[in-house]
Amino acid sequence: MDADIFGPSIPTLLNLRNHKATTITKTNLIEPLINFNLKCMSIGFLTKSDGPIVWRGLMVMQAIEKLLRQVAWSPLDYLIIDLPPGTGDIQLSIAQLIPLSGVIMVTTPQELSLIDVRKATEMFRLVHVSILGIVENMSTYFCQKCGHEEKIFGENGGQLLAKEFQLNILQSLPIDIHFRQACDQGRPIVQENQTILYSKFTNLANQIVELMNINKNTTE
Ligand SMILES: [Zn+2]
Repeated sequence: MDADIFGPSIPTLLNLRNHKATTITKTNLIEPLINFNLKCMSIGFLTKSDGPIVWRGLMVMQAIEKLLRQVAWSPLDYLIIDLPPGTGDIQLSIAQLIPLSGVIMVTTPQELSLIDVRKATEMFRLVHVSILGIVENMSTYFCQKCGHEEKIFGENGGQLLAKEFQLNILQSLPIDIHFRQACDQGRPIVQENQTILYSKFTNLANQIVELMNINKNTTE
């Protein structure tokens, strides 16, 4: 579920741009779109144009509720919600509307990103949502020509955050031109199983599943 009401990216990431959602007459529920064996829903499938969405407060919360409750999600293995950055109405509404098994904090190593992620971490702790760990994105860059490494967004940002909040870094993802291209073209990188990013993402997914199972067993 794409919870970014103002900048939905799931339609592009899953190669479903210009697709629109339909409503099932019998149940009056919205039918999720499916690609790569993933059900998905985004405000991008529900609005008429690609123009800016100029909603505020209440309308945003209604949109989130619609995406959560008026979509024929079931059956599902997991409901993964892609959140926009920050600590606004969207994050709070979701935390209040449904029980969350956990959140993953995504940051780049730079201080500007850490500031936002710190606030979000504190917010989720405040509403008692378990934080499963940190993913450090854009952690480093390897030159295409000579292979030298450059820490474009700074160093050790993820570690710093991990230490501050006593969390684990689940994965560090480098800046990668093929990954960027794959995202823009709507090709999930995990379809290409020979790449380093494939192993990094599968490893991340396996860790998340394991952490959620541990959480489930300790709360039952
Ligand atoms: Zn170089």
